[in-house]
Amino acid sequence: MPSISLERDPVGTFIMRCQCGSVEIGRGEVRWQAFEIEPRPKGLALVTCRQCHAQARLDEPRLA
Ligand SMILES: [Zn+2]
Repeated sequence: MPSISLERDPVGTFIMRCQCGSVEIGRGEVRWQAFEIEPRPKGLALVTCRQCHAQARLDEPRLA
């Protein structure tokens, strides 16, 4: 089970959650504060939780 998960609801709101309980919600051009997003090739991103330093590879959280 991934330590960090990203959901996107039908109206385009991103919900990023970490196993440590850190949650951040954003829309549009999100400026993440609780998570560090490092873009990777093929639309992926390396996401790091600033609170517990867990990492996960996720689809890059941006609007299509
Ligand atoms: Zn965390």
